[in-house]
Amino acid sequence: MQILQGIPVSSGIVIGRVFVLDHDPHRVARWTVSPDRAEDEVARFDTAIEQSLADLDGVYAEAEAELGIETAKIFLFHKGMLSDPSLIDPIREMIRQERVNAEHAVVVAFDALARAFRRQRNSAFRTKTDDIRDLATRVLDHLMGSGPARLAELEHPAIIVATDLTPSQTAAFDRETIVGFVTDLGGRTSHTAIVANALELPAVVGCRNITMTAKAGHTAIIDGDRGLVILDPEPQELEKYRGFIEQRRTYQLSLAEVADLPSITRDGIHIRIFGNIEFPEECTTTIEKGGEGVGLYRSEFLYFAGGESEPTEEDHFNAYTECLDRLHGKPLTIRTVDLGADKYTQSQAVTPERNPALGLRSIRYSLADKPAFVRQLRAILRASALGPVKVMFPMVTTIGELRQAKHILGDVMEDLDDLGVEFDRGIEVGVMIELPATALTAPTFAQEAQFFSIGTNDLVQYTLAVDRTNERVSSLYQPAHPAVVQLIRMIVKAANKAEIEVSCCGEAAGELDYALLLMGLGLRTLSVPGNSIPHLKRLVRSVSIQQCERIARKVRSFYSEVLAATYLRDQTRKLVPEAFDGRAVEARD
Ligand code: PEP
Ligand code: MG
Repeated sequence: MQILQGIPVSSGIVIGRVFVLDHDPHRVARWTVSPDRAEDEVARFDTAIEQSLADLDGVYAEAEAELGIETAKIFLFHKGMLSDPSLIDPIREMIRQERVNAEHAVVVAFDALARAFRRQRNSAFRTKTDDIRDLATRVLDHLMGSGPARLAELEHPAIIVATDLTPSQTAAFDRETIVGFVTDLGGRTSHTAIVANALELPAVVGCRNITMTAKAGHTAIIDGDRGLVILDPEPQELEKYRGFIEQRRTYQLSLAEVADLPSITRDGIHIRIFGNIEFPEECTTTIEKGGEGVGLYRSEFLYFAGGESEPTEEDHFNAYTECLDRLHGKPLTIRTVDLGADKYTQSQAVTPERNPALGLRSIRYSLADKPAFVRQLRAILRASALGPVKVMFPMVTTIGELRQAKHILGDVMEDLDDLGVEFDRGIEVGVMIELPATALTAPTFAQEAQFFSIGTNDLVQYTLAVDRTNERVSSLYQPAHPAVVQLIRMIVKAANKAEIEVSCCGEAAGELDYALLLMGLGLRTLSVPGNSIPHLKRLVRSVSIQQCERIARKVRSFYSEVLAATYLRDQTRKLVPEAFDGRAVEARD
């Protein structure tokens, strides 16, 4: 038995069999094949090449139909490489001469090719190294039978073990067979973690070397509350965890009771609790769990669902109308696409950015791709005729960006008017405050926006210069840092002064300790992952705003984020001990 500590990002406990997803080329084993098996090994390699070429025919045809001949040409290049004797023959020779396994020969040959491309002066060649990696993975998939193909054949409850996962990979998991995942990399508020939460898939990230330790097919337990992964558990440990799973079930049932009760503090203040969603279906769970509507729809997830092609105006519109149908008159706040950084664009980019978190992301990305932005705004406005819809822009840095975005929105309204298309002329336009720059100039933004939504996930990242996806600095990622607390206070003050609504939709709003602080700092609207809604409502109903304000005052007196975090945790335990009953107490120890 081995116990590994990672970062808990999606709660729950599951037991399953390990499935190692990656083909890390650096971890492909080398072995010697006997002289009489060498030709079989060459034949195995030839079959893998044939299968890869057949895959590429399919991919090419699909790309040509959906993306046009120019884009599809990239797959002709892939086919050309796999048919090139100068690449393929030396691999066969290496298998015969050195009597090594085909996987090893593939890795060596493709590595050499990638190095040769990287040395080229012409940047067009250098960008081809990703294609080479992609091709090597395709051939290795056929040799080793891994990746999506094997995933599709899973028949038992599986725990996915991977170096890292993209949000789209996670979103595509089959929930029937995949019960949880663990990764080497990743941080608490990475978008993969957010998807795991949305899918209610227990997950631990930042386990550093789990891919080196876990063995395929062996039993493992994920404890998504404590961030533990137990490999090859002893029978007593398995028994203990089966008990925890039962206790959790009972606790969840008791939480369900608060769904229909009002979200009012003991001194009668209404705290509005909304849900954060990534997929329209989550609107239903948001309402079932007691949310008052959707406070953050991460609309960029539409890009992950449609494979390689961009969502059309109709794709956007259909998703928004589905949300409205499921919300039965409750409000829907759509955030325009927040692409860039760890979401989607880097893996798709011809030239990946050197510093994507500071690059062309969020509203910058939309303003740089006006046709796509217009498509989305048209869909949002059309949906606004069918139910209560608000729109907000992510990661706005300058007032100029807000004005530009509003200007484009105005143009789209005029076009729809000309066409006689209905929309809500009074649609509220909000700004996400996710950067210290925006927080410090909040009074200016408050003059031109109708509401604020504080994105603490990014606000913490950019204030403390801590990558939210990097497990190596995760201990520095502290929402209770005095600088963050001060910025939140400034934002709330600016909103109150201008009499506009301010909410918080970062993950911190769903964590009980920080929710207490946020309420104490003046927030009356919180938007949280669906799973957190009942916990949060129970907290709201157990405290008074006076208590929250006292706690916030005390936190503001601390110079250290560690003291602040410890104090908040202690206070939460005192105020809502029932939230830490039984298993839950253990979970947070
Ligand atoms: C945030 O930054 O807090 C936020 C809600 O946006 P996202 O997590 O999608 O970046
Ligand atoms: Mg953000």
